[in-house]
Amino acid sequence: MSAAVPTIRATSERVAELTEALTEIRQRVAAASAKAAKPTGKPVLVAVSKYKPAGDLLACYDEDQRDFGENYVQELVDKAAQLPQDIRWHFIGTLQSNKAKILATIPNLYAIQTVTSIKAASALNKALPADRVAPLNILLQVNTSGEDAKSGVPPLSAAMPEAEVDAAELVQVARFVVAECPRLRLQGLMTIGALAESLAAGAKENEDFARLVGTRDVLQAALARAGFRPEEGRWGEDGRLLLSMGMSSDFEAALQAGSDIVRVGTGIFGSRPKKEEVKAQ
Ligand SMILES: *Cc1c(COP(=O)(O)O)cnc(C)c1O
Repeated sequence: MSAAVPTIRATSERVAELTEALTEIRQRVAAASAKAAKPTGKPVLVAVSKYKPAGDLLACYDEDQRDFGENYVQELVDKAAQLPQDIRWHFIGTLQSNKAKILATIPNLYAIQTVTSIKAASALNKALPADRVAPLNILLQVNTSGEDAKSGVPPLSAAMPEAEVDAAELVQVARFVVAECPRLRLQGLMTIGALAESLAAGAKENEDFARLVGTRDVLQAALARAGFRPEEGRWGEDGRLLLSMGMSSDFEAALQAGSDIVRVGTGIFGSRPKKEEVKAQ
């Protein structure tokens, strides 16, 4: 670690606050995953640190937190340069293909959870250095709630005929990653789930989670049909695609529905300024 580290440390009060919040979230993650209908092993808790200072992340790092999620490319680049190299960075923001080159320069970028197109996958695969130690994990973002404001490809369902599944956008992008992008590995699927407004209007959060589980099962069958087996290492972990679903307000329900990766921001770091407020500074 560089000599700059002491200057980014959080105050001892802040460290105590973060330690307590992180401990509580970890306990809740463990309790909820123990209640899952089909336990999935140890879920990954991604600490979502957008807008939070590097000292906050370092406090969590000192409590053995290694997975951090960021939404903005430049913020991620800056933090990755200041913080320890064994952090596993997850990019969870909107991915623009023209930012692929910058993201690809981060050696400890572990996953990009928000890929939605062949174009973005292709740009990432091209931008990654040939001597990268491990392939970059890719999760395809699925718009399970169907809201216009969300990015993501449409989900799949068990009711769809095989020909329709094989032609679906999600299957096309997945096959492209597995077949044409040797520097990427299709690790799984990600969803954000219904926005608060939709939930207030009667949508149920669990419907989105169940939809992602169903989508995963149909996609795995489609990949197998196309001749891509999980043991070849091009997709999935432990023989299945992982699911990234659940945030501060709903991670327990997501874990019970079978989530492997939860993304918790405010539950650990407290509230954040709104995007508009940050831009205005
Ligand atoms: C900000 C963000 C989170 C964390 O949200 P919280 O409600 O603060 O836990 C999770 N996932 C994505 C994609 C995000 O942008």
